[in-house]
Amino acid sequence: MEWRKFCWVNERRLFVGEAKKKVLSNKIFLDEHPICCLCGGTVAATTIEHAPPKVFFVNKVVPAATHRVPACERCNNGSSGMDQVAALFALTQATVHRDIPETYMDKLMRGVRNNAPTAFAAIANGPAELVPLRVEGKVDDYARMEVDVLIFNDWLNPWAAKQAYALYYLHTDGDILSPSSRVMVQWVTNAHVVDEQSPDELLRALGNYGDLRQGVRNSELQYSYKWQLDEEIGCFVLMLHDASMVMIGIFHDPEKAAQVPEWTLFATNAENGIHQVQPKV
Ligand SMILES: [Zn+2]
Repeated sequence: MEWRKFCWVNERRLFVGEAKKKVLSNKIFLDEHPICCLCGGTVAATTIEHAPPKVFFVNKVVPAATHRVPACERCNNGSSGMDQVAALFALTQATVHRDIPETYMDKLMRGVRNNAPTAFAAIANGPAELVPLRVEGKVDDYARMEVDVLIFNDWLNPWAAKQAYALYYLHTDGDILSPSSRVMVQWVTNAHVVDEQSPDELLRALGNYGDLRQGVRNSELQYSYKWQLDEEIGCFVLMLHDASMVMIGIFHDPEKAAQVPEWTLFATNAENGIHQVQPKV
């Protein structure tokens, strides 16, 4: 019959373009994960976010497709700039040489310069002094830089908070942090470690640090994290390029989170999405 020439379905085989295949797979994912996990649990998800973000991996080859989380349009918006800033910030601190392809670095720098010019200036133009450091048995001069605090306030802390909401969703099989929960974020740069301002104190404050479970580990670009979730609190420790660390605390009781006034805290809700909570005066 003539029509069979055109109808491959009857042969149980068909061609689908790569783009269409992705659309289909996203549709299935969103049917199974219908609510945005980043704004409190009442807004429909229409897009997919990745945790860790794809930009941390060369050529965006993410280790496992499981690191997808549902997000609404608003919560997904603006993420790529933050992801790029965090990736570049971490990469510039890596003192151990890694074989990072030039093309990847170039693209990353171009992205940050276009999407986050203030962050780019903060990383590239901060005043610096040379200090000798011993890295892997060899002493070399490194530039110790002052970085404008705006890069933390505007980019890195909100980025870390977003990772917290996404990772919580992934590690609880789809629980969504409520608007009353609080997320504490704290970056620990390689300078903190050299200055022996050890993060141990912070880790202890979060409890159960000895029992942290190993999360994702990607050796190529060195993104890894450990985590622990309990009834009342949770903790994620992200290691970026073995150089900087991000401490994340999750508190279901906002009063508990408010006990340490210096902590940078975030909350979320349907109206505003993830936002920093002003400390009590
Ligand atoms: Zn949302």
